[in-house]
Amino acid sequence: MLLTITTTHQPATDLGYLLHKHPERCQSFVLSFGKAHIFYSEASTHLCTAALLLDVDAVKLVRGRGTFVGQYVSDRPYVASSFLSVAIAQVFSTALAGRCKDKPELAQIPIPLVARLPVLPCWGGEEFLRQLFEPLGYSVSAQGHLLDENFPEWGQSHYYTVELQHTLPLSELLSHLYVLIPVLDDEKHYWVGDEEVEKLLRHGEGWLAGHPAREQITKRYLKRQGHLTRAALAQLMEEENLDPDGVEEQHTQEEAAVEKPLSLNQQRLNAVVAALKKHGAKRVIDLGCAQGNLLKILLKDSFFEQILGVDVSYRSLEIAKERLDRLRLPRDRWNRLQLIQGALTYQDKRLKGYDAATVIEVIEHLDLSRIQAFERVLFEVAQPKTIVLTTPNIEYNVRFENLPAGRLRHKDHRFEWTREEFQSWANTVAKRFGYKVEFQPVGIEDSEVGSPTQMGVFSRNS
Ligand code: SAH
Repeated sequence: MLLTITTTHQPATDLGYLLHKHPERCQSFVLSFGKAHIFYSEASTHLCTAALLLDVDAVKLVRGRGTFVGQYVSDRPYVASSFLSVAIAQVFSTALAGRCKDKPELAQIPIPLVARLPVLPCWGGEEFLRQLFEPLGYSVSAQGHLLDENFPEWGQSHYYTVELQHTLPLSELLSHLYVLIPVLDDEKHYWVGDEEVEKLLRHGEGWLAGHPAREQITKRYLKRQGHLTRAALAQLMEEENLDPDGVEEQHTQEEAAVEKPLSLNQQRLNAVVAALKKHGAKRVIDLGCAQGNLLKILLKDSFFEQILGVDVSYRSLEIAKERLDRLRLPRDRWNRLQLIQGALTYQDKRLKGYDAATVIEVIEHLDLSRIQAFERVLFEVAQPKTIVLTTPNIEYNVRFENLPAGRLRHKDHRFEWTREEFQSWANTVAKRFGYKVEFQPVGIEDSEVGSPTQMGVFSRNS
């Protein structure tokens, strides 16, 4: 059973730091069901391929089970399965957790990666394989295999040779593989109990809640155990902000309904967190934090040391507090957070001294006549080193099937900008207040109208 991971990130041998496995060494680890060997088939500065070879002890597998049939017909030692997930979690545990001792920033940034699985059992076929990986942004290539080459009339097997290509942080690739391989295989080699729900939510964090196939993934991962599946889905709904109590108010529902098919909200938050980490911002203010979607992610992530949520709406802050309370975090983690009521158009000393400020889908709620006041509050008074600001790209609205022509995405939006309008505003502000700005599309990019969300990342010239 083999998994290879290749990168063309430069220098490609950084993969060794990320995996915590030296490219010049071959290492072996004893696991409860066999051995894992790690080696590099290529390690140059242009291209680096790490291989995880699992040698499953077939005799150990059947011992004590009272059946010998499996000994002869089992595919378990040879195909990617939950054994591979366990091996990933054990031998690549630091990389899976998104940590890298020697180059911490490297673990957070997207790099070009190709994962290759020579034999992956896919119950549900190539179509299901694509349904799982394509919404996460992967290019999928799959080659099916005949059941028996000597008897082509027996047709196709459910085994595929699969290549998954994407530019993303290594930890995300490993989390996707960890969860989705056993889902495709539709089997687990161990007893599935309550702790599997926790594992699924932990490794699915940031991507499973917004995945179009989340119900099938959850059901299969938990081996179709109804009570576990229901518990996991309820928590995922909470993460996706589809609050089961119906307490959501104002903004989110209406806009989310328009944007939902893309799970744009999740992609936006992921992009913001990646930008914060790339800039090493550990102390962050979220301006216009509403009910705490971003705060929740920041709070759960120990990378962030101090978090301040600011919103003009007291009711939203109350809801944010209730939702974050439900995380039941230990006191020392919880103490990193502060929530305050404040308006972004009035100068406020409490906003000073942070590494970064995020302004996610907020600026379009301000009257155009108040934008200048907001600019001064943020760029002149608060003056964080990094500012991550997102806003809708109005050009993309024609692609939303359920948005009538000419309408903005939400009735409280005072305006929505084209790419040119946003970039021209951002460039002017950056220049006036001594920042540089870079732009990044968020969500699927359309060749004509761009991406649904536009993001500007400002860095203060120091
Ligand atoms: N950033 C959040 C919410 C965006 S909705 C998210 O991405 O989920 C916009 C939020 O900005 C609302 O919660 C609204 O109360 C807040 N807001 C609007 N005008 C504001 C102002 N002048 N000062 C502070 N907050 C404001």
